[in-house]
Amino acid sequence: MKKLLLFPFLVILCILPLYQVAAAEATEISAVRVATRNDANIPFVRTVLDVNNKVTPKLFVDKSGQYVTVTLPGTKVAADLQTDYKADENIVSKITLAKRLNNTDINFRLPYKVTTDDIKVFTLGPTGSAASRVVIDINDKSGKVRQWHKWKHLNMGTYGNDKASKPANKPVTSIPAYKRSTAKGLKGKVICLDPGHGGTDSGAVGSYSQEKNITFAIAKKAQALLSAQGATVVMTRTADVDVYGPHAGAVEELQARCNVANIAAADVFISIHIDASDQAEPGGVTAYYGTGSKEGLQLATALHRENMKATNFGDRGVHAANFYVLLHTVMPATLLELGFISNPQEERTLNTDAQQQNFAESIVDGLSRYFS
Ligand SMILES: [Zn+2]
Repeated sequence: MKKLLLFPFLVILCILPLYQVAAAEATEISAVRVATRNDANIPFVRTVLDVNNKVTPKLFVDKSGQYVTVTLPGTKVAADLQTDYKADENIVSKITLAKRLNNTDINFRLPYKVTTDDIKVFTLGPTGSAASRVVIDINDKSGKVRQWHKWKHLNMGTYGNDKASKPANKPVTSIPAYKRSTAKGLKGKVICLDPGHGGTDSGAVGSYSQEKNITFAIAKKAQALLSAQGATVVMTRTADVDVYGPHAGAVEELQARCNVANIAAADVFISIHIDASDQAEPGGVTAYYGTGSKEGLQLATALHRENMKATNFGDRGVHAANFYVLLHTVMPATLLELGFISNPQEERTLNTDAQQQNFAESIVDGLSRYFS
């Protein structure tokens, strides 16, 4: 009996040290984010994986061109991380994380044939205290994902799915024409606040926080201040949700936000965002207005001037841009980038109640200035 027991015991002794070495060295994949980007020339699905060590990803495209695997050597999936992900179905049917020996395979099932030219795989960071990231971009081959800058039809889409603020997915039938109010002051004005991103779209990600939560916190504070001054505030979202729907293409998502403002006949549209860079150093505040919009320029300038008083972040100026929400809202519109989440100092500051309140107040002051 004793001899028989000795064998398994020896086996355990032999395996244990090996197992411990492997476990200690495995880089962990702690988060996966999937988003559709159609603000580029060719729309693409971006998959971002957070890892706690540098990895060297390897890309494989099978003969059919419809199975793509990115192998991350020496990695394992965090125990609580889900292994199946959805994306825009025109580009990627399914994403699964699969364990294979000491590697993790990120498997993409695609509805259309691709080659390696359609795929970009790269790594970022670590920057500051931000995790290293593996980024996998897969281009649209369907031709069905509309590029936002080619989008011409304002009168489309649905009202959005944020049930708290409006009826669910109400079709857009008519959009009132914009008329500039001649009344001065904030009282009686309809202000549309658009907290950037939300729900399945986290926006830019810092070392410990997400853009969607910061933009929402600032918007909520501004909403309270504006309401107190007698303005009617229309929020594109009132919770952590996608405005159009989960995993929607950017056009649908952004058009749904425009629809909220257009249907409400808002006097102004203010989209709140936090900037990001691949590097840790860039920082500062920018205000954008739609190219060619004089009133947009006035609005962006008024808000930017006040925003710069509310922070010690750098001044990146006021610029014209062809951002979707600026071109597809009928009223004067501005998109504010209130600092960089990729800059560790600015990320910390942006997550404080004090800075969020400062920006909320400066947005209100900027609007007072614009309407005076
Ligand atoms: Zn953003």
